[in-house]
Amino acid sequence: MITSDMLLNIIENMAHVMKENKEYLTELDAKIGDSDHGINMDKGFSAVLEKLPSLKGQDCGTILKTVAMSLISKVGGASGPLYGTAFLKSAGVVQGKMEINSQDAVAVFDEAIKGVKMRGKAEKGDKTMLDALIPAYEVFKESIEKGEDMVKASFKAQEAAYDGVEYTKGIIARKGRASYLGERSIGHQDPGATSSYLLLKTIWNTLD
Ligand code: ADP
Ligand code: MG
Ligand code: MG
Repeated sequence: MITSDMLLNIIENMAHVMKENKEYLTELDAKIGDSDHGINMDKGFSAVLEKLPSLKGQDCGTILKTVAMSLISKVGGASGPLYGTAFLKSAGVVQGKMEINSQDAVAVFDEAIKGVKMRGKAEKGDKTMLDALIPAYEVFKESIEKGEDMVKASFKAQEAAYDGVEYTKGIIARKGRASYLGERSIGHQDPGATSSYLLLKTIWNTLD
């Protein structure tokens, strides 16, 4: 069970991890994009961090929705609206709830991915954040269905996301700025898949 307080902890840790990886994510984006992914993620999550004190005692849906609005409004790049839509869609699943159980977590994750797909029209294999998120969701769901707890499931999810990041190195970008490079995008890991992996790892680290 993830209480609303734990959810706030997860989000706070996400903000710290995005700050710590600001240069790293930006360097990755320098190779196949416009050198701002780390800057974008840090900017968005810094705005989120400022909102957190006001969210104490609020339900999980309100928390996720507030994160979404900060990301959408503060980030100019593609990643802000994409992650923002993910948080916004997932908020609907836990509106009014003070706790997220395993089943809710699967639904939250599913909605998040649907949000990214809806907004960005990308699929698995396009060299985007979805290449980390989709395999992570699949193993997370399978783990929960097997009766494993969220710590175990989130461990497996971040592991699958890591493999997803590795997978992006070998494929051509078909969405976003990296797609302008065509074949020249091969050999580089996708920045957004990398930030997704880091965010999922943060969930596991916080729950563990
Ligand atoms: P921008 O490309 O506008 O500068 P960022 O650099 O912050 O935005 O984010 C780039 C990342 O966004 C990419 O590495 C990729 O993972 C993700 N991305 C871009 N377009 C899409 C899309 N249509 N669907 C899913 N993810 C996308
Ligand atoms: Mg960029
Ligand atoms: Mg940009």
